[in-house]
Amino acid sequence: MQRDIEKILIGRDEIATRVREIAERLAADLRRELEAEGDPEAEHRIMLIPIMTGSIVFVADLIRCMPMKLSLELIAVSSYPGQTMESKGAHLKSELPEGMAGKHIVLVDDILDSGRTLQLVRSMVLERAPASVRTVVLLNKRARRAVPIEPDFAGFDIPDEFVVGYGLDFDGYYRNLPDIAVLTPEAAAGDPPEGDG
Ligand code: 5GP
Ligand code: MG
Repeated sequence: MQRDIEKILIGRDEIATRVREIAERLAADLRRELEAEGDPEAEHRIMLIPIMTGSIVFVADLIRCMPMKLSLELIAVSSYPGQTMESKGAHLKSELPEGMAGKHIVLVDDILDSGRTLQLVRSMVLERAPASVRTVVLLNKRARRAVPIEPDFAGFDIPDEFVVGYGLDFDGYYRNLPDIAVLTPEAAAGDPPEGDG
């Protein structure tokens, strides 16, 4: 796997520091809202919804920095058609969770690229009458935005490069890389590596 990596864009320590910061800001923001509602016991109304599979590592780290009562419901979205590096659209691959009405929903995704995924999910969630909706992404590729959506919380602005690691895949692989990295042109082209492979 290491020989497929051209460069590390964001290292694991930098990610860890930033994830902790985002978690603290998000938790503080949610607490403020619950207090403003006059319901300090309302933590059970916080529902995090990570968009699978890319956000699996991010959300695992994020929730462990949020010392409050919350529930977690996964959804799966896929971009199409076929091309691995280009998102042309998005469709929901799973049911939306039940019981979103009156809840404070936090949508979590790995990366905001064209914005279509988050916009689709956000609009579907809003139809279920939640108390509020927040969006959190680890990475933000501003230059690529095709629809007008900005995340409420974002970890890092990154340039228009295809990245893998920390949950993000190429063709299903590299999600387990602890850093966020750019692949070599050979690996990104799907060429078999030289040697014993
Ligand atoms: P959007 O709908 O915003 O265009 O795309 C969001 C989804 O596309 C992300 O959740 C992610 O799955 C995928 N994506 C966008 N950019 C990248 C990238 O640089 N690397 C990887 N691995 N996936 C990406
Ligand atoms: Mg994704």
